[in-house]
This record gives sequence, C-alpha cells and structure tokens, in this order.
Amino acid sequence: MERIAQCHCGSLRVTVTADHFTALLCHCQACQRRTGSIVHAGAYFSTEQVRAEGASSVYSRMSASGFAIHFHFCPNCGTSVYWKGDKRPDSIGVAVGCFADPTLPAPVRSVWEESKHPWLGIPEDMDHLDMGVNADGSPMTR
Ligand SMILES: [Zn+2]
Ligand SMILES: [Zn+2]
Repeated sequence: MERIAQCHCGSLRVTVTADHFTALLCHCQACQRRTGSIVHAGAYFSTEQVRAEGASSVYSRMSASGFAIHFHFCPNCGTSVYWKGDKRPDSIGVAVGCFADPTLPAPVRSVWEESKHPWLGIPEDMDHLDMGVNADGSPMTR
C-alpha cells in the first residue's frame, strides 16, 4: 500500500508505504501560523516507510518540549509537507492535508486546545490535551 503526499505545486512529494502509527491535531499558535490554517493535522510514520522526492528548504525551530523540529517545505510554493523532530529521530511527520485523502484514518489526539478556535468542533472520542506532550509522553502542564 502506498500513499502520496505532495505540496501545492506538486514538486515536493512524499511516498509512504504503510499506514501512519499515529496522527494528531495541533492547535498551537506556531502551527496556526506555519500552516495558515486554524489547526494542523499531522500523521507520523517510521522513517523507513517514508520516501521524499523533490527539492525542499528547511525551517527549524525549538518546540515547547525543548527539542528542535525541522520543517521541510517546497521552495517553489511554500507548502510544509513533512518534518523531523529531534525528540523522535526514528519517525517522520507528514501533513495530513498534503495527502488530500479523506480515507486516511482519523487523528486520535487533539493537542494545545488552550489556543483552539472555540467554534471548531473536535470529536469527543479523541484524546484532548490543553497543551502538548513532554519527551516522556506525559502531558505538559503550567
Ligand atoms: Zn510546491
Ligand atoms: Zn502545533
């Protein structure tokens, strides 16, 4: 089974050879600004299940958990297609929207709901967190 995620112009493409092991929604302000959308949806795959093609530029920033994240975006159209985090070097995140495939299994967790747009409905059976997740998997608190 293969799925292809691609940028707006199609020159940066990612082929995945398995279903993601988890997917989440993130309402943090950095994701809102990065995507230009009100919520980010990300799917996570083992590194060996992901093959990227096409030129990408990289923007790196520190995450709230204290580890850097490296976002790969298309130098032509600017879409962020995939990212690698120093917290989990064995996995790669791919933007769910870049698959443009509504049959992808739904996210299981919704994080940083403290900055969620209040009119956006999120299914109750998801795992809801006010903030993010620490490196050890525990929820962050103030
Ligand atoms: Zn592009
Ligand atoms: Zn975020």
